[in-house]
Amino acid sequence: MTDSYKHKGQRKKLIKELRAKGISNENVLEAMERVPRHYFMESGFEQFAYKDQAFPIAKGQTISQPYTVAYQTELLDPRKHEKILEIGTGSGYQTAVLLEMGAKVYSIERYRDLYLRAKSILGEMGYQPYLFYGDGYAGQPTFAPYDKILVTAGASEVPSDLLDQLKNGGSMVIPVGDHLGQQMKVVEKSQEGEITEHNRGSFIFVPLIPGKDTNNNKS
Ligand code: SAH
Repeated sequence: MTDSYKHKGQRKKLIKELRAKGISNENVLEAMERVPRHYFMESGFEQFAYKDQAFPIAKGQTISQPYTVAYQTELLDPRKHEKILEIGTGSGYQTAVLLEMGAKVYSIERYRDLYLRAKSILGEMGYQPYLFYGDGYAGQPTFAPYDKILVTAGASEVPSDLLDQLKNGGSMVIPVGDHLGQQMKVVEKSQEGEITEHNRGSFIFVPLIPGKDTNNNKS
């Protein structure tokens, strides 16, 4: 794993592009400038790491497009020491961005293979996330409640277990829809526990699939 001057230069350019596309939260942009996205790519795709595109990872999943990562993170607005539950660890890239911003991150992945890879790379990078192999629909009640929840796969609805695990005064960012596309929703829970929702644009994510995958063959 090396982070060369070339990589750093490409990353600077990507950040400029994200700014031009409307991302303005400096904490998000700075964190993304620090995290080497190429560490999270499948071999063969590293050279494209700083293109603003999603790419395939194992198990038919994807590493999200940098703009989507930036947009979701900006909506979530993570602060230092906040407890954040992430659903869909995938490559671990989004997890690293949240960790880089000083959040305490709990992240769940339904494919064991992806969970293991993310654990290994994030560990090598010196991060200390709490990673779980399991079903994100059920959240992680042991460590609840969370200040914020980020879902990085398209859900058919807002899972009630996740709402239950959100603190009063907390918020969740979650794409909701079907396989054709989703609306990015910001779901807020007031201090009194009342729920409000706002739509923040159309996106296309891989689906949030109920249950954890128990077929552990590699692919
Ligand atoms: N943030 C990740 C996005 C990966 S794509 C990245 O940028 O790499 C979404 C991920 O959600 C996939 O890895 C998929 O396996 C995972 N996923 C889908 N359904 C899930 C579920 N029920 N519980 C946990 N993870 C799930």
